[in-house]
Amino acid sequence: MQLITLIPGDGIGPEITKAVTDIFAAAEVPVQWEEQNAGQTTFDASGELIPQALLDSLEKNRVGLKGPITTPVGKGFRSINVTLRQKYNLYQNVRPSKTTPGIASRYADSGIDLVLFRENTEGLYSGLEMYDEHNGIADSIARNTVVGARRICRAAFAYAAKHGRKKVTMAHKANILKVAGKVMLDAAQEAAREFPQIQYEEKIIDNMCMQLVIRPEQFDVIVTTNLFGDILSDLCAGLVGGLGVVAGANIGDDMAIFEAVHGSAPDIAGQGKANPTALLRSALMMLHHIGEHAKADQIEKALHLTLLDKSKCTGDLGGSASTSEFTQAIIGNL
Ligand code: NAD
Repeated sequence: MQLITLIPGDGIGPEITKAVTDIFAAAEVPVQWEEQNAGQTTFDASGELIPQALLDSLEKNRVGLKGPITTPVGKGFRSINVTLRQKYNLYQNVRPSKTTPGIASRYADSGIDLVLFRENTEGLYSGLEMYDEHNGIADSIARNTVVGARRICRAAFAYAAKHGRKKVTMAHKANILKVAGKVMLDAAQEAAREFPQIQYEEKIIDNMCMQLVIRPEQFDVIVTTNLFGDILSDLCAGLVGGLGVVAGANIGDDMAIFEAVHGSAPDIAGQGKANPTALLRSALMMLHHIGEHAKADQIEKALHLTLLDKSKCTGDLGGSASTSEFTQAIIGNL
């Protein structure tokens, strides 16, 4: 029985993690949860943002499923998400976006099936920030290392090769960011030479945004820096039905934490309105990661069947069901 560290998180986190654990229990998935929280909730209760018990659990189990965590804007503590990603070198942020029958979007008929590889530990999220109060100057340094650029680019190509994908697109701004941007570009070109069977192209990030909106189906695997990836992944989520449905994984060489792309959604927390699909899909990525492919496929089938019946879906999907009604409908389709 695989032990998994479960981090419920803040806001809608506890509601959607309960949905996932209920579905896993009903499907008799052979995992055992070890619940350890972090974030605002643990801070309010114990004064600790990331309790040592959580770190011990992750270091032991090497696999985690995480709900969203609230991060205060412009002040307060450093993002726990960023801290965990950097502490454990979870350098790949993998975010698939695919059109799914039953999930409405302007692009529902366009056959989007892309996977975004966002560098997850460096760039503008390196935490190298300073403010010169005397002169009113704010600096946020985008640090890309050669090692960091190489490992994310290589991971994107290796994923493409393993999963029968045809093309990798590097989204960059090396025309302006001549130093940090070039490090990424050089690394991507190096990886492209290592995987000659995969088509390689480069797109400047502003054009990339327009291309994604005009003709998203042209993209297959996308690799980019931390900030661009953060923004592009919400754009990609919008193409395929919104934040409530897209999954994500933070993957390193010896640990992986799976989490939805969306945040803690304080506007709907505690109201039974949250859509658990994104976290469920992240949990299915986790099942593939630990080799439980059959269980992942079984649950995915039940999810897809449920999505076809609007009356069983949550409000963001055009239905009126609560989180737990939607969860029960998925369980009924297992
Ligand atoms: P958000 O993703 O929480 O919400 C954006 C909008 O999408 C809201 O209207 C929300 O109601 C809706 N939404 C999000 N998830 C949904 C779901 N599962 N079902 C239905 N609707 C959903 O983004 P935000 O409001 O910008 O951020 C809120 C907090 O979350 C902030 O503190 C932010 O720092 C944090 N955050 C955390 C993570 C993470 O833990 N990985 C990621 C992004 C944002």
